[in-house]
Amino acid sequence: MKNCSECGNIMGESSTACDRCGSVDVKGEHSSLIECENHFGQSAVAVCSVCGKPVCGDCAFKRAGRFFCDNADHIAMGSDWVVIHGCASEFEADIFVANLRAAEIEARFFSRRDHVSLAWVPIDLAVRVMVKTLDRDAAARRLIHLGLLDEVIPQQNS
Ligand SMILES: [Zn+2]
Ligand SMILES: [Zn+2]
Ligand SMILES: [Zn+2]
Repeated sequence: MKNCSECGNIMGESSTACDRCGSVDVKGEHSSLIECENHFGQSAVAVCSVCGKPVCGDCAFKRAGRFFCDNADHIAMGSDWVVIHGCASEFEADIFVANLRAAEIEARFFSRRDHVSLAWVPIDLAVRVMVKTLDRDAAARRLIHLGLLDEVIPQQNS
């Protein structure tokens, strides 16, 4: 285990980017392979904490301690949405989103694998299901009730 140099979050030894703030572990063995998606050849300093897009120091937006890409929608989502679950596949994430929507809870998922420069980098739980912060407890209860979740990942915005 190691700590994120930006926010102190505990990261897995093989993790390249922090799950909470998106900061890239620049000393990690794979970090030099991550390029800004807007500027080829420029190393990424972070991945968007919503969609996972890699961004360099010129492109990254930092707000409330988290990094975002240049998509205004993601910056706007950032403070109001939280990750409820990380999945290994889009297929799995889709089941979570469908079940939450069936319970009238708004949910979206984002895959870090959509980003070309991350293709060769090991990313834990690359597909992340997000819900509004306000719906987090209701969503967790629903997923536990359905047997899709055993425990809830620690609150990341507190
Ligand atoms: Zn961090
Ligand atoms: Zn983004
Ligand atoms: Zn850039």
